[in-house]
Amino acid sequence: MPLMNLAMVISLLLGVLVPSAVPLPLVTTGAVRDGRTVALTFDDGPDLVTTPILLDYLDDLGLKVTFFVVGRRIAHSWRAREVLAEEYRRGHAIGNHSFSHPVMSRIPPDSQVKELVTTQELVRRVLGVKTRIYRPPYGVLTRYIRHWLAKKGYTIVMWNLDSNDPFDHSAAKVYEYVMKYLSIKEGGILLFHDTHIWSVSAVPAIVKEMMRRNCALIARGEQPVYFTGLDRFGVRPGAKNVMPTDEELARAEAQYARMVDYCKSLDAEGTR
Ligand SMILES: [Zn+2]
Repeated sequence: MPLMNLAMVISLLLGVLVPSAVPLPLVTTGAVRDGRTVALTFDDGPDLVTTPILLDYLDDLGLKVTFFVVGRRIAHSWRAREVLAEEYRRGHAIGNHSFSHPVMSRIPPDSQVKELVTTQELVRRVLGVKTRIYRPPYGVLTRYIRHWLAKKGYTIVMWNLDSNDPFDHSAAKVYEYVMKYLSIKEGGILLFHDTHIWSVSAVPAIVKEMMRRNCALIARGEQPVYFTGLDRFGVRPGAKNVMPTDEELARAEAQYARMVDYCKSLDAEGTR
């Protein structure tokens, strides 16, 4: 066994007692303590058609989400850069999702790092801030990627709730899949792709159904499920792309007020 691997194994076994020769970045999977929060995340964009539709839906629903963007999409299109800037202007968080969406384990180490650096630089140029969150394409991480992310202070954002939207090409099916998932797990980081119209179309119905379920919880005096940013899931605080906690709290309050209004309107219609 090479010396570095041995050091890693020892440090893993002994926790913090033996400093690891290789720093590891923070990883968040979406597994939550209280299970009452859901963060929506959208990968692979920005798309010129579907992302702007989603942005308007999110404004109507009063939600902030996270977009994990693919560098190639913004590299050669000023219109795509405009969409990215609009995502950020409207208060959403932005993450790195590589440049060309490769399976990282199948390309050489220097190309892997280049994938990350190029997208980081593109995002910085468009938004004026550096992103510090990364979602690996296909969830595939390599040793080189981990080292680079750790050195740069990134948090790796995985997911524990899936919309299955690469496979279910209809809004009704995406809705069904997500609601089934949410009834089992209640909370976590939910993965969508804003490049699919069926995913974007499913979002308002999913959020409204969650609100309807919340009405039942509120009526029973239980805590409703909140839609939050990634900061509730262990993403490194202080990162510029993550909403400050007081903003997040203010949003939760506003969300609660909207929920109560929504529940009243359901009562008035007799549709609860
Ligand atoms: Zn992806």
